[in-house]
Amino acid sequence: MSAQPLPPNATIGIVGGGQLGRMSALAAARLGYRCHILTPEPDSPAAQVSAGVTLGDYEDPAALAAFAACVDVITFEFENVSAAGLEQLAAMRPVRPSPRVLQLSQDRVAEKTFLNGAGVPTAPWRQVDSEAALADAVASLGLPAVLKTTRLGYDGKGQAMLRTPEDLAPAFARLAPHPLVLEGFVDFACEISVVVARGIAGDIACFDVVENRHRDHILDLTLAPARIPVELAAEAQALAVRVAEALDLVGLLAVEMFVTSDGRVVVNEIAPRPHNSGHWTIDACPASQFEMHIRAVAGLKLPPATRHSDAVMKNLVGEAETALWPEILATPALIPHLYGKAEARPGRKMGHVTRLFPRGALPGDFGIEAALGPHLAPKE
Ligand code: AMP
Repeated sequence: MSAQPLPPNATIGIVGGGQLGRMSALAAARLGYRCHILTPEPDSPAAQVSAGVTLGDYEDPAALAAFAACVDVITFEFENVSAAGLEQLAAMRPVRPSPRVLQLSQDRVAEKTFLNGAGVPTAPWRQVDSEAALADAVASLGLPAVLKTTRLGYDGKGQAMLRTPEDLAPAFARLAPHPLVLEGFVDFACEISVVVARGIAGDIACFDVVENRHRDHILDLTLAPARIPVELAAEAQALAVRVAEALDLVGLLAVEMFVTSDGRVVVNEIAPRPHNSGHWTIDACPASQFEMHIRAVAGLKLPPATRHSDAVMKNLVGEAETALWPEILATPALIPHLYGKAEARPGRKMGHVTRLFPRGALPGDFGIEAALGPHLAPKE
């Protein structure tokens, strides 16, 4: 791979038009690059802030060719492009991260096989091709357990919790496509994640470990740093770096993990792109996850992933939270981010706010409630 950094004014192609592309394009603009977006969606969040857009489907060869012809290097904010589509793009322009990395992250069986092969612990799991195989897997892993689709699952979609033997058949029938994956239930104390970038020369920048709280299966709050023992945080970062190196990654990777109630770290899943749990880095770090992403993709050196502040990030999801925008703008301590989406459908991520604290001053739960104000305080 060419180690020549992309010169200023070059064009970075981003596959996907959502908020991750938007925030990547804003970071790219600050570094003097243009972005060109491939998306089927007119007026997408990413295209609103980019130099160009190809409107078309991710699987349409003509759209892929037109997009690739406009750009110098290609990256992703949406990673579910087919193998044929990735091959077509890679034949025309450098693709970072590589198609192999994207393909691994598209398929839970491939991903878990790769992770375990690299010595990275996950929940115990079995591939499930039939109802009989599901019964065998449950006999070996026990109940409760979590049945998941291997492809296209996000925000808790495509999964079912199995609590009793009666849950097996309906869950197997509902979840598609097959095969599925059965995971042993992880009794977790908290959910954490690590965002790590790896440059073209193999240089690494690893952000601090953060704690994630979900509501209705959607990320609600990220607390930076995670309030876990330093040895566990070091272990989580070491695992993320091991994954990035084993993938020979050029780009950015988020690793979602559980801290088990008996104090171990196990990996849940990986995403080779900027991640919702890294949005706090825009406001709390000199170089955000989006800048790291763009630097890695552009072949630039990575600065250290330093953090000047502690932070709480709160997602704005759906209509009710988006309606709080005037109050958010009127609260000076809240740093507002809105993604330019026209319609606040239920469960849709519309924006986020960040509240910074001096390093070491991240408050406990009551303090977070006070810091976000009465409207945005965490609800049980
Ligand atoms: P995923 O779609 O794999 O990110 O899972 C969504 C959420 O379901 C996670 O953030 C956890 O809260 C929960 N979850 C997923 N897998 C497991 C598991 N094996 N054990 C316990 N909880 C899980």
